Amino acid sequence: AKDAGRGVAKYFSAELQNEQDDRIRLETDLRNAIAAKQFHLVFQPLVSAKNQKLIGFEALIRWNHPQRGLVPPPVFIPIAEECGLMMQLGEWVIEEAIRATASWPEPITVALNISPKQIVLPSLPNMVSQALARHKVAGNRIELEVTEGVFLGDGSQTLDVLKRLRALGVGIALDDFGTGYSSIGYLNKAVFHKLKIDGSFVREAGSRPENIAIIQSIVQLARSFRMTVTAEGVETAEDFERMRDLGCDTIQGYLFGRPLSYERANQMVLGLSAQ
Ligand code: C2E
Ligand code: CA
Ligand code: CA
Ligand code: CA
Repeated sequence: AKDAGRGVAKYFSAELQNEQDDRIRLETDLRNAIAAKQFHLVFQPLVSAKNQKLIGFEALIRWNHPQRGLVPPPVFIPIAEECGLMMQLGEWVIEEAIRATASWPEPITVALNISPKQIVLPSLPNMVSQALARHKVAGNRIELEVTEGVFLGDGSQTLDVLKRLRALGVGIALDDFGTGYSSIGYLNKAVFHKLKIDGSFVREAGSRPENIAIIQSIVQLARSFRMTVTAEGVETAEDFERMRDLGCDTIQGYLFGRPLSYERANQMVLGLSAQ
């Protein structure tokens, strides 16, 4: 039994070693990936709950690794954050998302995700404002999505950065609301214009009635702070009707479209203006 135990330990450590090697390889590859143009953005439609019309997109990053193929963001974003690459990667996302926004007519908006590692940078508002100016895009055409994790560090510095972004007219959405560290205390600071209900609540709402209560409270909370609410992860007509009836303003999910290439998203926009 003792030997077997040792065997297991050995096996685990070999596996751990492999995982570490793999991570180091990914990190090295990640360092070169921007210059090698291996990233692109995809755009997932957001529709109005009222009339199901397209109102904009969420930009999501994709890494097409030359050997591995598509590496999921939840795999490489944490690596980029830990090895100090998130600033650079985030700057690329901001530039490309605003470039896409510039190519689309009002009132199409584009939401993009901002890592907590980018918020600590006091120069973020300047970076955003310069990109907006370069592409002649009004601040209110874009929306930055942050998670509750942004308040883990220096909360007052985070608030300051968010306020300076708001002053550019940029929208700030609190993403994955309810899944992370509670930041209800920050809601009254008037920096957020939207709460995004995490897809896990939305998809389980049918089978778990307690989720309905959570969603109702989120909608109420949003109303009392004059914020709008987006339900994400809406996959079925039932999900859609439930979220609409609970008072969500905008809807995102596979039911209305998967994340699309720029070209496909553009076709959707053109279809809208032809209506
Ligand atoms: P998120 O910001 O919560 O994005 C929503 C995720 O849910 C996306 O996964 C999207 O493809 C997926 N999704 C959308 N609708 C549905 C649906 O109906 N059903 C299901 N099952 N999933 C749906 P994705 O693109 O893999 O991104 C995962 C996470 O990676 C994002 O979660 C976000 O936290 C992060 N991420 C993605 N792009 C960026 C980026 O450019 N910058 C940063 N900092 N993070 C990003
Ligand atoms: Ca998001
Ligand atoms: Ca989300
Ligand atoms: Ca999420």
